[in-house]
This record gives sequence, structure tokens and C-alpha cells, in this order.
Amino acid sequence: MNEHTTHQVAMVTGANKGIGRAIAARLAAMGMTVVIGSRDPRRGQEAAAAVRAAGGDAHAVALDVTDLTTVQEAARWVEERWGRLDVLVNNAGITGSGKVSPEDAHDQVPSSVDLDMVRAVFETNVFGVIAVINAMLPLLRRSPAARIVNVSSHAGSLTLTSDPDGPFAALLPSAAYTPSKSALNALTVQYANELCKDGILVNAAAPGFVATDSNNHSGYLTPAQGAAVVVRLATLGTDGPTAGFFSEDGLLPW
Ligand code: NAP
Repeated sequence: MNEHTTHQVAMVTGANKGIGRAIAARLAAMGMTVVIGSRDPRRGQEAAAAVRAAGGDAHAVALDVTDLTTVQEAARWVEERWGRLDVLVNNAGITGSGKVSPEDAHDQVPSSVDLDMVRAVFETNVFGVIAVINAMLPLLRRSPAARIVNVSSHAGSLTLTSDPDGPFAALLPSAAYTPSKSALNALTVQYANELCKDGILVNAAAPGFVATDSNNHSGYLTPAQGAAVVVRLATLGTDGPTAGFFSEDGLLPW
């Protein structure tokens, strides 16, 4: 059943909607075979069908990044079909708050945060990324030039959020989402350092403020606009950067 495709094979987690779906659509439009990870198989199939209807090659796989069984099963499924993975985009993420309006985000204020919510956010945004990368690494190592992109956020930048004169000082203090993205940035560097000897480039991307369900569609960028920097990092040439943090405007400070 191994198709041994000559096309590049990409997996995007949380690709049934939002920025992940736009990343999947763009990578497919560029000619990649795209695996749409979705914790709800039906919505994953629907997203894959939409990509195929636009002329791309997309396949849905059940993948909940907090459920190791589905993560390992997804890796086995990709191995059976294509034998390798060229691109992994760790996009799945949660804010922890219902919808991040300024009111909702109050529940992340450090002095009164619910520790169970912090744990849930880290489980998805940080530990889930480790689970997925480690399950996919044997497949990524079979690619001649694998790329890993972790979808982070400007909010994860300690430099930006600690600047009292910068725009991010106005963000509500958060003990959940914001530190989860700082931890994801730290993980990005550690994986990049380990995997550079294998030619695997690992970078973090900040999509900007994108209108999706996660913020009640209050963002000012479209999912396709938010996806652009992720797609760029997923398609870097061999001389591309690793251990970097980028927005569409360029390098961001950690
Ligand atoms: P979204 O529309 O809410 O999409 C999030 C995706 O992640 C959904 O497909 C969701 O699946 C999936 N997901 C959540 N938990 C999961 C789990 N345990 N296993 C697998 N999939 C899971 O949000 P988005 O705005 O597109 O966010 C995508 C990424 O961009 C996130 O990492 C987010 O932190 C980051 N980001 C977004 C913005 C922004 O302005 N929107 C800014 C900076 C960074 P379900 O449909 O099943 O819930």
C-alpha cells in the first residue's frame, strides 16, 4: 500500500479549520500531498474533500495531539501510505479561554488562574507537540530535507511581552496561553539544535492576529494571510534558517 510518492508529503495538525486548514490548502496548492490531522474525523474528511475539490491531494487522519494512541496510529498510517514525511506543521492549539475576548482572557490572569486550565493548555500546545514530533521523527528522518514548523504567537515572545513601551504590554497577563507559546519557542530551539545534524530545519512562526474561531473572528488577518509565514518556513531551501522565530515581517525576538 506504500505509494512511494515523489511528491513531498506534509502533515498539518488541527487542519480541519482556521489557520491550519489554510496552511493545508496552500501546501496542497503548491503540489504537496497533505495529511490533514483532525481530532474529529468527519470534519477532517470534509476539509480534505474541499482541498481535493480545489485540485489538491489531501487525506484526513484522526489525530488528537493529547492522545498518544491517535498520534502513534497517525504515524503508522502515514508510514503505510508514503513511508516518509517531508513537512510537519504543529498547528493544533487552544487558548484555554472559551473565546479570547478581553473578558474571557481574564480567566488567565496569573494570580487567579485555574491550574487545570493551565495544564490543559500546556497538554495541547506544548506536550502535544513533543508527542507528535517524536512520533513523526522516524518518518521525517527518511526525507531528504525535512522541515518542522511550530505555530507559535507574538505573545510567546518574552522580549515583546516584557517591553513596557511595546504593543504587547497591553495584553492581559496570562499564565496559560502566553507561557505555553514561550515554552513552544524554547522547544523549537531545543529540537532545532538536536536535529540540525540530520538536515531537519525547525522554526517557530507567529501568524499574526487572524480571524478564527479561537478569537471569535476578531482578528484582522485572513487565515490565508496568517498561513503565509508558516508555509514559507515549511518550504525552506537547504540553506534556510533553523532555530528561528518568524512573522511575515521577518525575524522576531524570543
Ligand atoms: P482554531 O480555528 O480554533 O483552530 C485550532 C485547531 O486546533 C482546530 O482544528 C482544533 O480542532 C485543533 N485542536 C485543538 N486541540 C487539539 C487537539 N488536542 N488535537 C488536535 N487538534 C486540536 O484556531 P486558529 O486561530 O486557527 O489557531 C491555530 C494555531 O495558530 C494555534 O496554535 C494558535 O495558538 C495559533 N495562533 C493563532 C492566532 C490567531 O490570531 N488566530 C494568533 C497566534 C497564534 P477542533 O476543531 O476539533 O477544536
